[in-house]
Amino acid sequence: MAKIYVTRNIPGTGLPSLREKGHTIVVSEKDGVLTKEELIADLKKDSYDGVLSLLTDKIDAEIFDAAPDAKIFANYAVGFNNFDLDEAKKRGVVVTNTPGDLTDSVAEHTFGLIIALSHRIAEGDRFVRAGKYEGWNPNLLIGSEIKGKTLGLLGAGRIGARVIYCARAFDMNVLYYDVVRNKEVEKNYGAKFFETPEEVLTTSDFVSVHVPLLDSTHHLINRERLVLMKKTAYLINTSRGPVVDEAALVEALKKGIIAGAGLDVYENEPKLAEGLSELQNVILTPHIASATEYAREEMSRLAADNLIAFFEGKEPPNAVK
Ligand code: NAD
Repeated sequence: MAKIYVTRNIPGTGLPSLREKGHTIVVSEKDGVLTKEELIADLKKDSYDGVLSLLTDKIDAEIFDAAPDAKIFANYAVGFNNFDLDEAKKRGVVVTNTPGDLTDSVAEHTFGLIIALSHRIAEGDRFVRAGKYEGWNPNLLIGSEIKGKTLGLLGAGRIGARVIYCARAFDMNVLYYDVVRNKEVEKNYGAKFFETPEEVLTTSDFVSVHVPLLDSTHHLINRERLVLMKKTAYLINTSRGPVVDEAALVEALKKGIIAGAGLDVYENEPKLAEGLSELQNVILTPHIASATEYAREEMSRLAADNLIAFFEGKEPPNAVK
């Protein structure tokens, strides 16, 4: 039976099912993000066969050195940009993720931001709470319908495709750019493929980002590309913070280069770029797009299933290749 270190307590059946299989589970005593030093110190206290990590843990050579017997790291997230994958490969360490079951949650959160921005819901909420509501007013907080508007996606994988599916229900036109063409969303939902992000940016009323964080997607949305967007357009990012140059976004929002933004992720979480939180034309959520009971439960189950399969000598179902 294996001894598994868990970097932070997680909800759901994952940890109980690992214990049921007879594995020893050691959960970090700190209910918070471990610093690198804290994680290394914890890992060095014992010999672990596996680690269950979170997206807030940066896993690199030093961490692998601190847990030389851990041959599997099961990440409790679909993204795995927190890993040095080359280093893992070099050492023969298996890395797994939890794809699929948070797709609906993230797509719905994305749509929540789109609708909240176009109907000025967060602004309205602040207005009422501030005691400013004095009765119905024909000119108060005028927004716009999303029906007939153009939604442009950067990345049409699992989450992007689900966003496209939802957009159909609102009669939106959908365009997308991806390094891999998704013929299914074209055939099933009439999404139109463009070969460059620029073409999507110039023609969309809402731009929503659904790419993984990679070297090729770092600052995919930068100053030059923000300028290409319509003045009336909104940017939505529920992927990873560093995909957007956040300082350039603040500048674009302040100067009216774009109309607004809905963000669930930030370039230097949990810090925000200077000036971002003072802007009225942004909606900011604390990286909760996958925070539904179902999604978190499934992430817990998937992370555990990967560990269970590995320690039974099988191929983990979600090994990152
Ligand atoms: P996915 O792998 O199914 O889709 C990603 C898509 O991006 C793929 O179609 C891929 O071809 C495309 N892509 C890769 N590099 C690209 C590039 N340079 N330019 C354009 N397209 C590119 O992943 P998914 O399940 O849809 O998740 C997408 C991302 O969403 C994850 O990697 C993760 O970082 C993020 N995410 C965020 C939350 C949250 O809580 N906010 C939750 C889950 C996932």
